[in-house]
Amino acid sequence: MITPGCEARLPLPMRLLDSLFWEPFVNIRLASDFRAISAKLALRLCAIIVLGWTSAHASTCPLNQDCFSKAQLEGASEKLSTESVSRQTVNAGAKAAMWLSPKIRVREGQYFRFENLYKSDAVSELQVHFGGAELPPIKVLVPPSGNSGDWQGFSYTFSIPSGANELSVGHVLTGPGELLTERPSIRRILGPEFTRGIVSITFDDGWKSAFRNAIPILEAAVSDTHPNGLRTTQYIITKGSLLQPEKYRRYLTPKDVLLLHKNGHDIASHTRSHADLVHGIGDEEGLEAEISGSYEDFLRYQLPAPLSIAYPYGRHDDEVMRAVASRYFAGRGVKRGLNFADSNPYSLRTQLIQRHTTIGEIIDWIDEALANKAWLILSLHSVEPTIAECVHPGSNEADEECTDAATVKALADYLKNTPTGTVMTVRDMLNDKLEGKGEVWPLTQSTSN
Ligand SMILES: [Zn+2]
Repeated sequence: MITPGCEARLPLPMRLLDSLFWEPFVNIRLASDFRAISAKLALRLCAIIVLGWTSAHASTCPLNQDCFSKAQLEGASEKLSTESVSRQTVNAGAKAAMWLSPKIRVREGQYFRFENLYKSDAVSELQVHFGGAELPPIKVLVPPSGNSGDWQGFSYTFSIPSGANELSVGHVLTGPGELLTERPSIRRILGPEFTRGIVSITFDDGWKSAFRNAIPILEAAVSDTHPNGLRTTQYIITKGSLLQPEKYRRYLTPKDVLLLHKNGHDIASHTRSHADLVHGIGDEEGLEAEISGSYEDFLRYQLPAPLSIAYPYGRHDDEVMRAVASRYFAGRGVKRGLNFADSNPYSLRTQLIQRHTTIGEIIDWIDEALANKAWLILSLHSVEPTIAECVHPGSNEADEECTDAATVKALADYLKNTPTGTVMTVRDMLNDKLEGKGEVWPLTQSTSN
């Protein structure tokens, strides 16, 4: 469990030490065993420094909270900088160190994020060990921190595999060198994080009412953090808004679409005719017309190629996702939830803002996305001046997908005061990924300053 190189030099004692560390994990008794064992390891290259963690610290990690108290962190940090040096001098010609977390109870599918600061002049390793099943540990190489002498930040996100019910994390120096670590934390997270929380405001179907009653409010939501107001993603039905606008008078016209594009909104596809892509299409040609056909409709109107699609009624399966992937970089359904850095881009989740959705609920979603560095995609449809006007034309039946201008105004007022870069179109999100900018999609799970 240490490294093969290390075991090769110290076959027996190191394996013994290794099993002592990883199987019962760290406790006080082990710390004293360590001294006895390590005396036998004098002049060996690999020694392990145990920090003052005891099994009494083992606990479940509450959601969104560091598992370790401040006092524990400070204690660990202080002990490391003094004890490690003296023990290294006694025990070995070379220096080595291990920081080992207490055991944490876990469940399959949960996500955790480990973070610490470290200084080292050699490659070290983050090891994630699982209990409850025969599972290989995760091992991640951590590069040397360089010559500056500054603390380097390290973070790693991982999920709990099937069968595991406990985890322990160690930062291990596996060869000659020196490793100092401090401020370790492990916290449970909802999913792999973006570099910050993101909110996208999307509109489905291309309703003229949204263009009249919502877009001006959003564009005017100007603040220090959002100096140009808020921009949206418009999932338009190309037949209604581009091909035959004279027949579909309640939808955006080509002129409206071009103006939205000119003003910085993202124009994306909601297919050509709003067909149910799973059940509403007879043959492949139909699927092709809805997916590639709508894409080509954009180009015909001198619009940029759409990067994403919203599935009508949210309906998509593997075949639909494969067809969409030939033209687009993402697809959004209507399944509720937040999106994370590892979410399937062809099955993005959303939170629908409908007739009965309150601004309190919407603010809770936004806060949750920001707290978890997740991507919240809001979906709206038609927007009327008042809820009373949210009715289907020709009848007094309530339009359940409609919302009112007051809700949009409250949303805009809340979003404009979020940190810079919180509100992004789906296109901006995808461009960050495609261009490898690393502004919102994390490039690696490794070190950062
Ligand atoms: Zn729709």
